[in-house]
Amino acid sequence: MDSYTSLRAHVDFAALRPRYFDSGAVMWDAGKLFHLHNPLKHPSSTGTTFGSTAFTWLDKIRLTRMVADLLLAPDIDPTTLIDAGETTWDFLKKRGISAQAVRRFFQPFFGGVFLDDTLSAPASLFLFYLKKFSSGRAFVPAGGIGALPEQMASRLPPGALRLDSPVVHLDIRDRRTANIMLSGNRIIHATQVVIATDEPATRRLLQDATPSREHTSTRVVYFSSRKSLYPDRLIVLPAGQDRLVRHFAQITNVAPEYAPDGMHLVSATILHDRGFSPEEIVTRARAEIAEVFPGTADALRFLHQRHIAYATLKSGTPPSSPWPNVHLAGDQISTSSIDAAIRSGENAARRVLENI
Ligand SMILES: Cc1cc2nc3c(=O)[nH]c(=O)nc-3n(C[C@H](O)[C@H](O)[C@H](O)COP(=O)(O)OP(=O)(O)OC[C@H]3O[C@@H](n4cnc5c(N)ncnc54)[C@H](O)[C@@H]3O)c2cc1C
Repeated sequence: MDSYTSLRAHVDFAALRPRYFDSGAVMWDAGKLFHLHNPLKHPSSTGTTFGSTAFTWLDKIRLTRMVADLLLAPDIDPTTLIDAGETTWDFLKKRGISAQAVRRFFQPFFGGVFLDDTLSAPASLFLFYLKKFSSGRAFVPAGGIGALPEQMASRLPPGALRLDSPVVHLDIRDRRTANIMLSGNRIIHATQVVIATDEPATRRLLQDATPSREHTSTRVVYFSSRKSLYPDRLIVLPAGQDRLVRHFAQITNVAPEYAPDGMHLVSATILHDRGFSPEEIVTRARAEIAEVFPGTADALRFLHQRHIAYATLKSGTPPSSPWPNVHLAGDQISTSSIDAAIRSGENAARRVLENI
């Protein structure tokens, strides 16, 4: 998102050659397509915003009020939103959002953002994202998402970054001395350490036997197609919890360089495998996409699928360091977003400087 505050502070957006999504979504429910455009970003599309029958008039009024309040409120620090509190589901119900709007928009859209369509993520996290989506625009770098860490890494001194070097053990001698053991019996001597791994790895390194919090897994399936499925720079949200594909996008509508001329790239996000084999998942994902855009099944050629076993964390107590010179950062102590990961890195750097 170009509205991510910490990302803006550390990244040269123009050098990433951002390719922007339009602000909105294509919703699909039981054979009907609805287009939604954010009126703040696309004022000329009011026909498809307030004309959309995916929302009731009361939903539109309530959502507009919610967004207006958020835009007037101070920026939200995403690293402070780890507390469970009220769930997004309960919040939407309490604010009077209709079951139809939850089913057609909030569940597929924010279920895809949280990688959990029960909407059990904290309402405060939902409000953080709603503000970011209302005030900014989602983009992908022209060179792929890997261009983002590559740009950040390019600013480090030569030799500062060692890839493919897992840390196997931390030996903390005192508040100024740490030995970091890498695989292959290599050792780095340090005074301060920041651990920004996934939670199970962090707990192992901290020698903390507490079980890690529950987490979600996800799977992304990629197809190529000679036939364009739809023309919009929007993601598609099929309604219904019985579906395998939570959302999908013809990503080349946004970033044409992701496929050769005349070809389209489609990426589908799956939250629950439901015990299906990878082959069955591909077949079902293709069929679900073709149900939304009939006549496209034959054009969709399977390219690749990736299973991300450790995607987002559910609520609970994050790990903490018992040593004053070992600091934690990343999703594991904040919330799942690039902005929160960077902000927590800034916080860790501040603690390192205070401790020197
Ligand atoms: C499918 C998917 C889509 C997403 N889309 C978005 C999005 O559109 N926008 C957004 O803001 N966020 C998105 N996210 C979330 C975002 O990717 C995370 O919030 C972010 O990557 C977290 O960064 P991190 O540094 O905390 O952890 P990670 O990126 O997971 O990095 C942890 C690193 O620690 C390394 N590691 C583990 N153990 C060791 C060890 N022993 N020694 C050394 N290194 C180790 C791992 O190899 C890994 O590189 C998405 C996540 C998923 C799964």
